Amino acid sequence: MKSNKLFPALGLMLLALLPVLPVPEFWITQANYIGMFALVALGLVLLTGVGGLTSFGQAAFVGVGAYASALLSTRYGLSPWLGLVAGLAVTLVVALVLAWITLRMSGHYLPLATIAWALSLNYCIANMDFLGKYDGLLGVPALELFGFSLADGRAMYYLIWICAILGALAVRNLLDSRPGRAIRALGGATVMAEAMGVSTFRYKVIVFVIAALLASVSGWLFAHVQRTVNPSPFALKMGIEYLFMAVVGGVSSVWGAFVGAGVFKIIEDQLKELLPQLLGSNGNFEIIVLGIVLVLMLKYAPKGLWPSVQGLLARWFPARARVRDWEGAAALASRPKPQPGELLLQVDKLRKQFGGLVAVNDVSFTIKAGEIIGLIGPNGAGKSTTFNLISGVLSATSGQVRFLGQSIARLPSREIARRGMSRTFQHVKMIADMTVLENVALGGYLRSSNGTARAMLRLDREEERRLFAEAEAQLKRIGMEAQMNELAGNLALGPQRLMEIARALCSDPALLLLDEPAAGLRHKEKQALAAVLRQLKAEGMSILLVEHDMDFVMGLTDRIVVMEFGTKLIEGTPAEVQASPEVRAAYLGTEH
Ligand code: ADP
Ligand code: MG
Repeated sequence: MKSNKLFPALGLMLLALLPVLPVPEFWITQANYIGMFALVALGLVLLTGVGGLTSFGQAAFVGVGAYASALLSTRYGLSPWLGLVAGLAVTLVVALVLAWITLRMSGHYLPLATIAWALSLNYCIANMDFLGKYDGLLGVPALELFGFSLADGRAMYYLIWICAILGALAVRNLLDSRPGRAIRALGGATVMAEAMGVSTFRYKVIVFVIAALLASVSGWLFAHVQRTVNPSPFALKMGIEYLFMAVVGGVSSVWGAFVGAGVFKIIEDQLKELLPQLLGSNGNFEIIVLGIVLVLMLKYAPKGLWPSVQGLLARWFPARARVRDWEGAAALASRPKPQPGELLLQVDKLRKQFGGLVAVNDVSFTIKAGEIIGLIGPNGAGKSTTFNLISGVLSATSGQVRFLGQSIARLPSREIARRGMSRTFQHVKMIADMTVLENVALGGYLRSSNGTARAMLRLDREEERRLFAEAEAQLKRIGMEAQMNELAGNLALGPQRLMEIARALCSDPALLLLDEPAAGLRHKEKQALAAVLRQLKAEGMSILLVEHDMDFVMGLTDRIVVMEFGTKLIEGTPAEVQASPEVRAAYLGTEH
């Protein structure tokens, strides 16, 4: 067996055999806690590490799972398995409500809302008679499975670790999928993801709900391990500690959750013994030390411990390129294309004001299918703003944009993408820690349909093959297939810009919008880019090319629109524009 199969197999075997080995009961108890903690931390890896959303309220979701099952089994004599379902149902409702209210708002509302949620849940369970107030609920029954009692810690060990590993595999599967690529864009590339047709709001809700459900399962396990519940393990302090585990372990790796949970549990126990001895008094001093460790980690190892662990393991598990398994995959559906010469885009008196500044001043022009139109002008002329108005990233103050005969001026960018317009960005927007191929595959988002559940269950492989075949074909089209397995963040600027074009092409657009694709490129790279654009034109692609560099557009475009100070100066063929004294004055006036 190869070592990259052997070691996980050995690890799994050790994990499976631990309870039957003559190890002290204490080890099993520790392992059980680590498994339960890891389930919660796993949710935070997805939510915080990948999605960039912070929750301090995970312990409260653990509490919901624990109390639901404890209440139903002690007061009503119902099966804990029903308790699990009830806990998940309540968690789902609470998580949906919290997400719905806060995730539409910017940045800090979610963390604040989760703090409020953690505090209020704790207040409720500590003050409600039927939940036993501070004493909680006693006499929670042990779980039973097929008639076997799981009262013993070693029996629970198996259930806990099966849950934790299944959870980890589900999250790992999710991250490597169509919805996963959308989720990975949440951290810092939401504008790009929306332009690829992704509803980022929807995915924020989804990751928040998944994280809450994982916490709830952990709570259910916890209630039946402890056989009693009380408010303190579900307080805000524990919510912060879960975040600590995720950050320490490695917020962007599924296995980091296990490292973080393990390190936390071991450090915390040692500190609880050591600190009172050292300081000579009792108290929750460990939280201070944990806080200091957290700050140091954020400063010196912001990616957590997992990358270091991975570095050590790399000897035995070298990083492998994605297996190229998509040979012969069926093509993705493509859209009917407009006939050459058909009116594609009509921009009519488009206007955008930023306060008193008129960035785009009643600009009008049209694009016919098969044309390359250049939109040029000196810096600050309003080109990018025009571009963002057309692609739906900004909303117009007034004016009209029609695409394929339909008004698109008030649509969000993902709806415009759905109608067949695809774009690149003046400042490259990508997911740096994904491969070039995966970044390009994100462009095929709207041509595919697999959702979160199918991805977690790995039922999405057939469509993934089709997506990757398409992504590879688009990379070939622009001559970048040799770099498809590199991490996008490692590419130079030139290839990154080409990758953005491949990603836009992957959506099978009727109109391609390029915002300063040549900016910052070296001469050779500019030539390569021009060759790609010429080839796309020969293939019948329609392109709106925003460009600062006049020479670059001269040889490429059919017509050129020149802007200055937000206003359209002239429109004409490259020769007409080149001959125009006004254009020369505009460029000379601002450039020199
Ligand atoms: P170009 O792409 O032609 O260089 P832009 O469209 O980026 O020009 O900018 C046009 C004008 O609008 C500039 O004066 C710029 O400072 C201003 N502007 C652009 N975006 C914003 C914004 N979000 N808020 C305020 N002013 C803006
Ligand atoms: Mg610009």
